[in-house]
Formats: sequence, C-alpha cells, structure tokens
Amino acid sequence: MNILIIGSGGREHALAWKMAASPLTDKLYCAPGNAGIAQEAECAPLDVSDHTAVIAFCKEKKIGLVVVGPEVPLCAGIVDDLEGAGIKAFGPTKWAARLEGSKGFTKDLCKANNIPTAAYERFKSVGPAKAYVRKTGAPIVVKADGLAAGKGVVVAETVQEAEAAIDMMFGGGLGSPAWEIVIEECLVGEEASFFALCDGETAVQLASAQDHKRVGDGDKGPNTGGMGAYSPAPIMTDAMNKRVMDEIINPTVRALARAGAPYKGVFFAGLMITKDGPKLIEYNVRFGDPECQVLMLRLMSDLVPALMAAHDGQLKNFNLRWYPDAALTVVMAAKGYPGNYSKGSVIEGLDAAAQVEGVEIFHAGTKADGGKILANGGRVLNVCARGKTVREAQVRAYQAVDRIKWPDGFCRRDIGWRAIEREK
Ligand code: AMP
Repeated sequence: MNILIIGSGGREHALAWKMAASPLTDKLYCAPGNAGIAQEAECAPLDVSDHTAVIAFCKEKKIGLVVVGPEVPLCAGIVDDLEGAGIKAFGPTKWAARLEGSKGFTKDLCKANNIPTAAYERFKSVGPAKAYVRKTGAPIVVKADGLAAGKGVVVAETVQEAEAAIDMMFGGGLGSPAWEIVIEECLVGEEASFFALCDGETAVQLASAQDHKRVGDGDKGPNTGGMGAYSPAPIMTDAMNKRVMDEIINPTVRALARAGAPYKGVFFAGLMITKDGPKLIEYNVRFGDPECQVLMLRLMSDLVPALMAAHDGQLKNFNLRWYPDAALTVVMAAKGYPGNYSKGSVIEGLDAAAQVEGVEIFHAGTKADGGKILANGGRVLNVCARGKTVREAQVRAYQAVDRIKWPDGFCRRDIGWRAIEREK
C-alpha cells in the first residue's frame, strides 16, 4: 500500500520512521515533510490546506491510506474531503475534531456525560467573564475557544491576571478576537498525557507519557510546544489507566457515537491526576509532539495495521505490543525559541550522535541544503533514546546531544527529572 503522511514535524518523522519499517508499506510519501523525513519517505511540496490538490496527489500516487499528523488540517475537514473522494484517511472528521478545536464543545460534552473535568463556564463578552472571575477568585484558568497553537490558555494566579487575560483574548491578543472563552477551575495535581486509538466504537489504550512544556530547566520560563517527553509516565499505574479508560475515554467514545459522529483516530487526553482521581484538562485529536516520538520508539507492533483497523472499525480484537523499555526525547531548539529566533544555521554531528546505543534522531524543523542540514524552525531536532529505565534513556539521549555541533541551538538538561526521582 502507498501511504501519505501529512505534516512536517518531529511527530511526522517518528510516524514515517515507524511506518517505513512496515512490510505493508510500498511507497511512503510525506507532505510537506522535512530533511529528516526525506530519509524515510518521498517529500511532496504540497500545500496541505488545498484539499483538492491533496486529493489529486493521492489519486495520482494511488495512496491507500492518508495519516494526518497535525490538528489544523483535521479541524479544517481534510478527512471528510479525502473520504468524500474515496480515499482512506486516518483521523477524526471535522465535526469530531471539535474535541480539540472547541474547548466549549468538549466541556459541554464532559458535563453531559459525567466525564471528570474542571468546573467551568462559557462566555461571549468581557463583562460577564470578569464578573465571574471576581466572584470565583483566583487561581483560575482562562482559555480561548479555538485552536491557538498552545497560546490560548492562561493559568492566572490572581484576579487581575485573569482579567488581563480576558481583555487580551477578546481584544485580539491571540491574532484575532476570541469569539468565546471558557473560564475554569484550576486543577491541582500531576499532569500526564494519555493516548488511545479509536475506531468509532472501540478504544485501545496506547502508552502514557509526560512532557515538559516550559522552556527552562526546573520547568521554569515561558510555555513552549514541548521541550522533551518520556514514556511511560510513572504516575499512570495500571489502575489509573483503567480509570482513565472507564471514566474519560470510553464515555467520550459512546457520547460521540450516540451523537452520530463516531470518533476514528487517536485520542490524546491531557490529564491532571488529582487527589480525587484523573480529570480531563483537554482533548487533542492527534498524536502529541514530542510524545509521539517516544511512543513510536516503544511500540513493538506494526503501526500500519493498527491505523487501518482504527479506520475500518476493526479494533475490537486488536492487541498492540510494547517494548518494556522506557523512552525519552530531548528537544533541541533554536536559541531565542519560543520567542524570536533565526533560521538557516548549520547543524553537524548528527551521524555520530545517532550511533549512541538506543538513540534515534527525529527532525522537527530542518531543511537540506546540498549535503548540509540547516535549522528551519523553533523546535528543530528530537534526540530520542530507549533504555531499561528513564534514567538510562536520559543518559543516552544526552550523550547523543553532546555529539551534535550546533552553536545556535539549545536544549534543557533535565528532561525526565520527575520520573528519575521516582526511579531512585
Ligand atoms: P491546554 O492547552 O488546555 O493543554 O493547557 C495548557 C496547559 O495549561 C496545561 O498543560 C496545563 O498545564 C495548564 N492548564 C490548563 N487547564 C488547566 C486547569 N484547569 N487547571 C490547571 N492547569 C491547567
């Protein structure tokens, strides 16, 4: 089967690496891809927001399955358009992708189905939102309704901060004025990411992971798309995983099926493990980046039949096998990220780094220029490693990092610290 992956980051490189190894894959394409993905797949310079062009490409290349990496094309309805043209596509429909695209939609779904989540209210204007914040007090969380690339959430420590966030979001501070915001209770606990494949009726748990969102060591500084991750998350015991499936994932699957829009694709549930149990912070409708990278390193089974089974409604008797090892990834970013950074600096030493035992390097934002690899984004490389423990994976990943010669890049030096403390 010929397969097309949509996307261009480290997540898509990890998916390409895994799917290229499948005996079911004849020819693998990625649109638009990056310099690392080009080692696994043929990169096609398609504008993926042009669904007609993507459909024409799939027909020409006889694509048997399209795997959509990022949320933006999913929320834009690329799966609906591909399926409408008779092309199999892995991922939720536009309607179901609202689980990520609309916080209000998800919160209402949780409320209607007793899915544990933070208490909340929805607001369409500044006045009532501020009145609610003053009445409720801080800490409190303010969220813009639509997709905001991780920038649409403010965890406010004071009422003044919450009011400023409300003004900012309704005032266009996120690019365009929010049409609605959600204000919710601030949950206390430890965060974890939980993944499950779903075929519309049956959900199959994948592995758990934890990521590091802040840019600096000690989880300090501004939020980013993720500076590293590891799997499994020690807090996600078998009993906790079962609670998440029973209390969060399966009620969601049933609710969407009842609504006539069965969910096919991957659930990425952002959780807070509170003293009362797991609560849903948010849903994403695609693999996490960089969590996907560590999941793919730990997945022993072939990914392609699993994605096909999710698409075809055949997950009921499906079993996935995992390596017992831990996996960890360190993100190398361009200096200045998540603020301003420059592109085009040369990265060397990647081959030497990849030779460290257990190490796999996925490209997040790179470009090939002749024989050189150039930085081409904020998050640029994912240096990943497997190990018997998170600690062993961490040591290997940083050995590889230290072989990479990229003066314009940086990384955190403490990825995995929480899990490693527990291992001690
Ligand atoms: P989100 O984009 O919804 O994942 O939110 C980004 C981050 O904000 C999460 O990873 C949490 O660290 C934090 N956050 C979001 N909602 C809450 C909440 N209700 N209570 C505490 N922290 C939250």
